[in-house]
Amino acid sequence: MDRPVAVVFMSAGTWVARCPRPLCLNAEQFGITGSGQPGGLTGSFRCRDEAGGCGLTCEAQWPANVEDIEWLLMQRPVPATRNWLPGEDLSDLFTENVQHGIVPISPAGLEAHPGGVLLQVSDRIDGGALSSGTWRREIGATPGTSRRSPWAEGN
Ligand SMILES: [Zn+2]
Repeated sequence: MDRPVAVVFMSAGTWVARCPRPLCLNAEQFGITGSGQPGGLTGSFRCRDEAGGCGLTCEAQWPANVEDIEWLLMQRPVPATRNWLPGEDLSDLFTENVQHGIVPISPAGLEAHPGGVLLQVSDRIDGGALSSGTWRREIGATPGTSRRSPWAEGN
C-alpha cells in the first residue's frame, strides 16, 4: 500500500489538509488554530492527538505555486471566497476574480505600453506591469484610471 499523503487545499483563506487515514475525520490547518495552538499542517502533516486526531504523521502535498495562489486569492475581500482545490489553475482563479470585478490596477494606473504584457497567468504568475501592483475592486477608484470615455467630454 502506498504511503499516506495529506493533500493540501485552501479553504476560506486557510491552508488545510484532511487526514488521509481511512475513517479519521480530522483535518489540520497551517498556522495558529482557533484554540491558539499551531495546527498540524506545516511542511508535513501531523494529525494531532490533542485535537481529536489519530496521531498519523505523513507527507503533505502542497501545490508548487503556493505564493501565486495566495496572491490571487488574497485579492478577494471576502475571506469565505478564498478557496482553492488541487486541479484549479491560476487562470481559473484569475478568471473568477475578474468575473467578480476584482481587477488588477498597477500603482501608476493602467498605463501599459501597446503590446506590453499586463499580467501573464499560466501555472505561475510571470510578471507584467500589473503583477507588482495593488488590486482594486473598481476601475476608476485610483486617480488617473477613469473609465470615462474620451468621447464623452462635455457631458
Ligand atoms: Zn488522522
